[in-house]
Amino acid sequence: MNRRDFFLKAGLVGAVAGTAGLQSCLSLPKQYGDKNFYINRGFTTIPKLKISLDRVIKETVGLRPFRESGPRIEKEQLGNKVLVHNYGHGGSGWSLSWGTGHQARTLVDTTGTKEVALLGCGTVGIATATLLQESGYQVTIYTKDVPPNVTSNLATGTWSPSSRVCARDKATPAFRKMWEEATRFSFHRMQMMLGIDDMVVWANEYRVLQSKSEDRQGAASEAFHTPGLIPNWRELSAKDHPFKMGHVRTRSNMTFNIPAYLHFHLNNFLLRGGKLQIKEIKRPEDIDALPQKVVVNCMGLGAKHVFNDEELYPISGQLACLIPQSEVTYKLMTRGAYFISRKDGIYLGGTGKVNSWDTTPDRRETEKWVGILSDVMKEMKG
Ligand SMILES: Cc1cc2nc3c(=O)[nH]c(=O)nc-3n(C[C@H](O)[C@H](O)[C@H](O)COP(=O)(O)OP(=O)(O)OC[C@H]3O[C@@H](n4cnc5c(N)ncnc54)[C@H](O)[C@@H]3O)c2cc1C
Repeated sequence: MNRRDFFLKAGLVGAVAGTAGLQSCLSLPKQYGDKNFYINRGFTTIPKLKISLDRVIKETVGLRPFRESGPRIEKEQLGNKVLVHNYGHGGSGWSLSWGTGHQARTLVDTTGTKEVALLGCGTVGIATATLLQESGYQVTIYTKDVPPNVTSNLATGTWSPSSRVCARDKATPAFRKMWEEATRFSFHRMQMMLGIDDMVVWANEYRVLQSKSEDRQGAASEAFHTPGLIPNWRELSAKDHPFKMGHVRTRSNMTFNIPAYLHFHLNNFLLRGGKLQIKEIKRPEDIDALPQKVVVNCMGLGAKHVFNDEELYPISGQLACLIPQSEVTYKLMTRGAYFISRKDGIYLGGTGKVNSWDTTPDRRETEKWVGILSDVMKEMKG
């Protein structure tokens, strides 16, 4: 074979090999296409909740401190003390804590003193104490109990600033202004906690219902709205969700990982030189006996008897907690039940018994939620 023949043959082989290569290249998109089609199955999948009664690790009942006219953020004179009230947040205390804490701080600013006593160590008390410290106040917390033995530990832990915060017919323009300012302040403050120990996270939230009219009834519980904060609800088509029901909506919302959150902020308060004393306030005279001239009242439902506040009453709420499931990061609400995934467990709820002081969990409620949510999971595609 001469040199020319060699190159011709080599070229031919090369060309054949090149064609084969080209053919296999050409066949690749087809293979990938089939594979993709198989993976997608024509709908979006999300991890399933493992749900059964034997996975329930605790059941709790917490008492929401509800006032028909809304939270009390007010300054009053009590003997020789200046009292600043910040209590009665109903089902919105987590969401509003920083905002009403800021409003209480503004009232403390008018007193001209830098030493403050603060009553209560729930989410409202801890947020208010933190804000006061940030403005240079020396704060001493006096409290009957600390986390986890406070109502704040018995909450669902979601951004819900208008949940049972006020009776609709009692919502005055003054309330709406206070509420909107508090909501906006809190929202922005929460964004500064992202990325720290997952105490605040954004997660998907689904409303899974049979029909639009069912959805309208449920949405009525969120009475007030502040535009421009969390994203709007978005309706999903059947291929965009794995549920069997006909009306599914989603949005992003915040979840508060309650134990990590309270632990972080209480530790921070102490690290910055804040003081804490276990002490029960039984009557106004106990407040008069405190060394500080300015006292901020964040006692939640505990304020009722000390200040004889007839407007304040409990709306009880039961939760059941399942073993944590780290791959489930979303929140789901359906007819008669919801669940929210937190680091410390999957929380099922929820009830709202007006004026009920009973904190004994009712097993039948838990069984009902497990039944409803099991059905949603069983019917879920994927
Ligand atoms: C089931 C359920 C779900 C909820 N879900 C959410 C939610 O998802 N999002 C949301 O924003 N909110 C939610 N809430 C509402 C929220 O939990 C409350 O609004 C909030 O916990 C109130 O906080 P607080 O600090 O005022 O009260 P608490 O947490 O009750 O704290 C009061 C503090 O005062 C102390 N204290 C009381 N009495 C006295 C006394 N006599 N002397 C001294 N100290 C006293 C207590 O020991 C405690 O330290 C929910 C509530 C419940 C029950």
